[in-house]
Amino acid sequence: MLQQFLPYLAAVLVEQVQVLEDEVLIVARPRDGTAVPCPGCGTPTRRVHSRYRRRLADAALGGRPVVIDLCVRRLFCDTARCARRTFVEQVAGLTVRYGRRTAALAEIVQVLALALAGRAGARLAVVLRACPAEPMTR
Ligand SMILES: [Zn+2]
Repeated sequence: MLQQFLPYLAAVLVEQVQVLEDEVLIVARPRDGTAVPCPGCGTPTRRVHSRYRRRLADAALGGRPVVIDLCVRRLFCDTARCARRTFVEQVAGLTVRYGRRTAALAEIVQVLALALAGRAGARLAVVLRACPAEPMTR
């Protein structure tokens, strides 16, 4: 049911959803065993170097900001001619490199910025729970 509201979660395994007083917390991870193409050479790999958690802000649900706690993998690239030894997997439609927002929320914030710019856009983003009271820089 959650994936009907948030279709970009289809690529991950949702482990837990908590409706807290001030946010909706979704704990998820990419599906284990999925081969990911190296961004340097394109060779698919699934050999895991390490894992870490990313916290991504997402569009609000029911007036509450949504936070996705996503456990991502750092993977090895074993191709000898590739300059990358490791890289962090990105989830299509959900994450971008160094991004702290989901792709969906980043698009909302970008549209607000282009349409309204400056303080008006920032105020509306706060009302829509697209940004905390102090707007993020990414
Ligand atoms: Zn590579």
